Amino acid sequence: MMDLPDQFKGTPAVAAVIVAAGLLAVSVSLPSSWRKARFDGTAQAARSTITPAPQPNSPLPAEADHPPVQPSDKAEAETWSDAEIIAALEECVRVLTPTGADLEVSKPIRNGQCGTPAPVLLKRVAGVAISPSALVNCRVAAKLHQWIEETVQPIAQEVLGASVSRIVTASGYMCRQRIGTSNDRLSEHSFANALDISAFVMTDGRSIEVLTGWGQTARDRQAQAKTGKPAGGDARPLRDVETADRTSTSEARFLRRMHEGACRIFGTVLGPEANEAHRNHLHLDLAARKRNAFCE
Ligand SMILES: [Zn+2]
Repeated sequence: MMDLPDQFKGTPAVAAVIVAAGLLAVSVSLPSSWRKARFDGTAQAARSTITPAPQPNSPLPAEADHPPVQPSDKAEAETWSDAEIIAALEECVRVLTPTGADLEVSKPIRNGQCGTPAPVLLKRVAGVAISPSALVNCRVAAKLHQWIEETVQPIAQEVLGASVSRIVTASGYMCRQRIGTSNDRLSEHSFANALDISAFVMTDGRSIEVLTGWGQTARDRQAQAKTGKPAGGDARPLRDVETADRTSTSEARFLRRMHEGACRIFGTVLGPEANEAHRNHLHLDLAARKRNAFCE
C-alpha cells in the first residue's frame, strides 16, 4: 500500500505520480484533501497506498560504532529538485506496483552528500514481513522482492522445509562511511541503496541468525591452523566460541545459499566471510558494477 507525504500535496510530484500510474494503466483516486494517493492495481497487482513515513530509526548495534557522516562543505544542493523527485516516484510506481509491496513513501532525504529523492519505508514484500521496517529506495525494495521469490523461499523450502515469514533487518538508510574497510567512501546505506539483514524467521518459528548460523569462516580456519585451537562453530570470533565446525548444518547451508543467490541480483553482497564487521549480518546493495556483483 502506498500513501503520499504531506509536502507533496498539490505539488508537481503528485501530478507526476498520477501520470506515472496512468502509464501503468493503474486507476487512481485521490481523496479531496490530496493527502493520500491510492493506486488500485490491475487484477494481478496488489493494492498500494502512500502515507507519510517516520524518519529513519536510530542506529542498531551493528552500525552504532560507525559515526554518522557530517554534511561536508562540498554538500550539494540542500533539496532535491521537483524533476528528481518526480523521476524517482515514477520509478517507484513502475518497479513496485507489480510487487504489491506494503510500504510508505517517505519524505525526500538530503543530508550533504547523503540522501535519496523518494525513499520508502518497506514493511512487507513478497509475503514476508520486513522487521523492523526498512528505509530503502524503490529499486532495493523491488530487488528484495525478486530475491525472496527466486532465492529465499525456494531454498528455505528445500533446505529447511519451511518458508521465511520475516526478515530481520539491521540497517537501511544511514548517512555514514563504509564499515570494515580503510576506505572512507560513503556506504550505499547513505543513499538508501542498501539493506542489512541479521536473521530470517521461519513459518515454523525457527529463527536463523547470520551470527550463529553461518558456521566457521575462512578466517576462523586460518586462525585455527595457526593456533591449533578448535574451530568456531558459528560465525562468532574464536575467542567467543569453541565448538565443532558447523558449516554443514542446514542453517549454514541455508544462509550460504541465500548469500550466493543474492549475488545474482544485487550489486554487492557481503557476509561473515567478508570481514569482522559483517559477522552478524548480510549486506545487500545496488552499487553500480561494471561486470559481476562484488560478492564475499
Ligand atoms: Zn550494510
